[in-house]
Amino acid sequence: MITLTYEYKLRPTKRQIAEMEQILVVCCQVWNYALRERKDWLNSRKSPVNACPLHSEYIIRADAPYPSFKLQCQRLTEAKKVNSQLRSVNAQVLQQVLRRLEQSFERHQKLGAGFPRFKKLNRMRSFLFPQLGSEPLRAGAVKLPSLGWVAIRQSRLYPEGFAVKQARVVKRASGFYLMLTFQAELAVPDVPLVGHVAGVDVGLEYFLSTSDGFQVERPKFFVDLQRKLKSLQRRLKRKQIGSANWKKAQAKVARLHEKIANTRKDFHFKQAHKLCDQADVIVIEDLNLIGLSRGMLGKHMLDAGHGQFLHCVLPWVAFKRGKALVKEDARGSSQECPACGALARKDISVRTHECACGCSIPRDLASGLVLRNRYLSRGAHGSKIACGAVLPGAEFTQSRQVAMNQESPAIAFGLAG
Ligand SMILES: [Zn+2]
Repeated sequence: MITLTYEYKLRPTKRQIAEMEQILVVCCQVWNYALRERKDWLNSRKSPVNACPLHSEYIIRADAPYPSFKLQCQRLTEAKKVNSQLRSVNAQVLQQVLRRLEQSFERHQKLGAGFPRFKKLNRMRSFLFPQLGSEPLRAGAVKLPSLGWVAIRQSRLYPEGFAVKQARVVKRASGFYLMLTFQAELAVPDVPLVGHVAGVDVGLEYFLSTSDGFQVERPKFFVDLQRKLKSLQRRLKRKQIGSANWKKAQAKVARLHEKIANTRKDFHFKQAHKLCDQADVIVIEDLNLIGLSRGMLGKHMLDAGHGQFLHCVLPWVAFKRGKALVKEDARGSSQECPACGALARKDISVRTHECACGCSIPRDLASGLVLRNRYLSRGAHGSKIACGAVLPGAEFTQSRQVAMNQESPAIAFGLAG
């Protein structure tokens, strides 16, 4: 079973835009109402020891059941009978709002995430159709429940042999987007853990460094974009809040935020493909362990960009290209000599690794080498893990060719699958 998510920009009519805005409004109200219901119930079950419960307690009958997902869904169905605004929105869409609330309560209880919060309208940015009708796709348009046929910008073809599972409509500064989730029952082939191994270290000075001595600097365009963002935010501050000019300035800031995110993602994809061009097995640090092990020591702060790269983009690209991605425990990787294995203590300001054995290389490259050594010493090299080389998009595309020719002309071998 393989799941893909493709994103398309919507080209809705004015009526459809108004309808989607209205759906977001109702979703927001349902979220806040359901959250209030749960909070009241929880508050009604406790009172501070030094207060009179008659004054401080929320009075809800003792035998009233906790408003669970199931109960809230039933109440929603009841409410729809009398509330025309609720009736105007697809029932499944509203149920998904309740489901999300349920999930965020679970994340709060089990994973220690923050308590779910009330949302202002601008915080409600998307809604989900968990099911689409039959034959919902045609060239340049998608049929959505209650909205009808909505035109899209067909930036890529639909994947062949896949069925549409669900559709999420996302509102961004530059308009409405559609995330289509496709599913197919495909056998996933195994990729052997053989061939060239590269250890990869991410950092702040260099975006990434591999054990082969390949380093990518932090791209300069981020600095330029950040500077632009600062100036726009200053301009926004001088406007009177709520005025027409303030709204215009705010829209500009939002557009720039979106642009920065897009630019970063594009950069991440290019780097991920570049790594896959160079190696068959890519070894990265296991970030779950980092939070525990590094904490106070702090080898370097990992900004959100690294998380997206290592957690989302690189695994996906490696999967599609049929390359193996392996996570290794990174504890102490910057304090170890890659040549002799001796402990080589150094704090973050020391940028070069020097060892008594005569080994002297840049710090990040040393970390990459240590990761590679750890993987090889584990003895897993030669076994198999799953890959997705059969997926659409795994083939060699023109844009990737162009990117490669511009940046690294030395690497020009073809790709399997
Ligand atoms: Zn050494």
